Amino acid sequence: MIAKERVAAFLATQRPRSFCDECLARALGIDPSTAYRAAVKTGRAGSSVREYGVCSDCGESRLITRAAH
Ligand SMILES: [Zn+2]
Repeated sequence: MIAKERVAAFLATQRPRSFCDECLARALGIDPSTAYRAAVKTGRAGSSVREYGVCSDCGESRLITRAAH
């Protein structure tokens, strides 16, 4: 599975939790830059939403990604 599909699948299972790129990368065991690019792609594809919010994992207020409703 490519990174974009892994990110989309992970976010779907974790719904409605949201994750920053770093936590997404850590959870999936992928490179942070790969996680960032994959998260942007899932957002463009409409399967997820990129917005400023609180990460459900690290609790930091930053750009996060979550599954679209
Ligand atoms: Zn985080």
